[in-house]
Amino acid sequence: MAQEKLNSLVTPDSNGNFGQHGGKIGHPALAKALEELEKGFHSIIGDTEFIAEMKRLQATFIGRPSPIYHARTLSTRGAQIFLKREDLNHTGAHKINHCIGEVLLAKKMGKKKVIAETGAGQHGVALATAAALLGLECEIHMGVVDIAKEHPNVSRMKILGAKLVPVSAGAGTLKEAVDSAFESYIGQVEDSMFAIGSVVGPAPYPEMVAYFQSIVGHEAREQFDSMYGGQPDEVIACVGGGSNALGLFNAFLDDQHVELVGVEPAGEGLDKPGRHAATMTLGKFGNIQGFNCYYLQEEDGTPSAVHSIASGLDYPGVGPQHCYLKDIGRARYETATDEECLDAFLALSREEGIIPALESSHAVAYALRRAAQLDASKRLLVNLSGRGDKDIDYVLGKINL
Ligand SMILES: *Cc1c(COP(=O)(O)O)cnc(C)c1O
Repeated sequence: MAQEKLNSLVTPDSNGNFGQHGGKIGHPALAKALEELEKGFHSIIGDTEFIAEMKRLQATFIGRPSPIYHARTLSTRGAQIFLKREDLNHTGAHKINHCIGEVLLAKKMGKKKVIAETGAGQHGVALATAAALLGLECEIHMGVVDIAKEHPNVSRMKILGAKLVPVSAGAGTLKEAVDSAFESYIGQVEDSMFAIGSVVGPAPYPEMVAYFQSIVGHEAREQFDSMYGGQPDEVIACVGGGSNALGLFNAFLDDQHVELVGVEPAGEGLDKPGRHAATMTLGKFGNIQGFNCYYLQEEDGTPSAVHSIASGLDYPGVGPQHCYLKDIGRARYETATDEECLDAFLALSREEGIIPALESSHAVAYALRRAAQLDASKRLLVNLSGRGDKDIDYVLGKINL
């Protein structure tokens, strides 16, 4: 059975760094809590009881392993396209993988509550689900603009018993929600754990979330080899903070012949500042929200406004492991525009009967473009990070069907 394990390339040094990226640049009040979390996290990696409980919940609650599906109609463009179906997980995306891990860890550390930010509400719903399952309180911070936009997820969180904290500061979206959640956490570090939503933030978060997501790649590598033989030529995933991409990439890092491709949102175009979120492509090095990475910034270093049709990709920074993989040339980062994303959303819906999340549609968009450049012997493995039910009304408002 596939087992979580992190490749040394994406495991930090003792200061929480991956090359020049990462680190723990924190509020002094946070330092102690981060240290406690780091200890807690490292103790569970070798704890057979913890792992057994996590495996039980992966199989019986999340529904793992998620299958790999050969998308034969999409593949008539050229290369063969395979999908890792994280959209079939309970709650409809990959986020439940790290939420189950984080809440199990919080419980093991004796915490009563988990606190987090959410953008589109996907992380909030997954965390509220895991907290309901394991009997912990859950406090979710969400920008007022996102609350208005993402009504079904707001309702889900309330039904699951989470306490929702609206954040009206600044643009009222994800970045402000992160600041607000951290502030609330600092006031209650004894009883609570901050459960971040991606491979971002100060150490140990990037390592911890990557560890919990690594199940995706370990499963996929085993499944692909036993069903189709060998490894894919390219492994492709969308990148917001980078957790679904890193979860898949991790297992293939030592397979030098496998190309790893992250796909970022080019929004309305890379030439339109403030109207895309192509962090790896156009960001500059610096520190944002407790860690170093490439991020989209103004002259004075403040984070730029960002945009993507997919709210889950709408963040000016990106995980430090991805920045490092880019620096050493092990992964490459491409982009897809809002328009290409909508085309891919419809193509997968109509040609394969799978409605993908707009986030995941970015990876599909690149795969379609790439498949057409390659012959039918090449094989592309795409992480279908989530399902698109949450996006259907928005899409219908954008295109006339
Ligand atoms: C949140 C989300 C993403 C983006 O987050 P990563 O950390 O980059 O994976 C991608 N796909 C779906 C379906 C999401 O909900």
